[in-house]
Amino acid sequence: MSDIFWQAPGNGKAFDSFIGDNSKMNSRSIGVLSFIKEFSKEQGYVKESFFRANIKKYLEDNYNEMPNDSLDTHFYKPLLFYGFIYRDKNYNLSLSIEGNIFLKKYKNKDFLECRKILLNQLDNTAYPNNATPNVKSLNLYPFRILFKILLDNSEINTKFIKSSLVRIVNFEDLRDYLTSKNLNDIKEYKVDSSKYEKFNTWVINSLVDLKILKREKEKLKIDEEMYEHIQYLYKNIDYEDMFGTQNEQYFNETNISKKRTKRDYKIIDEAKKRDKFICAINEKHNTFLSGGNNYTEGHHLIPMFQQKNFDFSLDIVENITTLCPNCHREVHFADDKKEILDILYEKQQDFLNSYGVQKIDLFSIYKQSL
Ligand SMILES: [Zn+2]
Ligand SMILES: [Zn+2]
Repeated sequence: MSDIFWQAPGNGKAFDSFIGDNSKMNSRSIGVLSFIKEFSKEQGYVKESFFRANIKKYLEDNYNEMPNDSLDTHFYKPLLFYGFIYRDKNYNLSLSIEGNIFLKKYKNKDFLECRKILLNQLDNTAYPNNATPNVKSLNLYPFRILFKILLDNSEINTKFIKSSLVRIVNFEDLRDYLTSKNLNDIKEYKVDSSKYEKFNTWVINSLVDLKILKREKEKLKIDEEMYEHIQYLYKNIDYEDMFGTQNEQYFNETNISKKRTKRDYKIIDEAKKRDKFICAINEKHNTFLSGGNNYTEGHHLIPMFQQKNFDFSLDIVENITTLCPNCHREVHFADDKKEILDILYEKQQDFLNSYGVQKIDLFSIYKQSL
């Protein structure tokens, strides 16, 4: 049996009360997000060392925060875990597009919307995760499993989380349950280690504080206001889909996103016609004739998995760029996508800006720093 378990990030929760209640911890998290937004304006990111050197003073000055030793090293990690902050390999911090939207909605006091954005982030949260370096070998989406089990069972015992849930690491671990739909068929582990407690005490408790989950005595349920949204996120997702590599999950346009949003291939044809079947990166990228035209592919510049963050459809002609197969693979799979994104941003700037997407947002969607 492996020693792997679901890990909690950093050294605490991101939120210790419902969003909209200005508890110390909540306002501190908002302060961290605001700091990164403010100081990343010029370069597109803040160096982690700059963050560490200045965050305490910033929170003291702007958020009445008492100096706290773990603030600089740990406190942003739950936000990293939820994907509101992005940290690249050079330890540069920036807000993700979702972090930006969350902050904007928070400042507009659109708190219900904030909870939904956070839910969407939980849905995206995968292990391995930047904020939890010890679970490198896991390939799973912990919250999808949690929410799917909650949808199946309407309530679960808190003991179940401590003794069973945090040890689900592969599809096999769910097999018996899937035939019986009986929670008791998910293996229970006798654990004495306090480290298992952290997922429960930090993450789960935080979800209860945020009114995403609801606790009644020893039972956990989905909060009524969030139920429909969670149901919408998971209605077409199978347990099988929750295991796999992050890259596959994110960029396999034909897999999960297809299940969530019905794709209209006519739109892709329309875009290719608009672009006269010429690759947006370089007009000299000729391939071969297909149907009498230079063979190209349509790519959703804002990927479909981002749909939940936008209140307009992403499956529109304006969001499709025409690429040769090589450039298309590159935009999905290259380590360094900066050059290609520069060109695509330039070409689609009007469209992107009209929907509030700036260059830094586009780069952060593709996990690139500016
Ligand atoms: Zn594509
Ligand atoms: Zn090309």
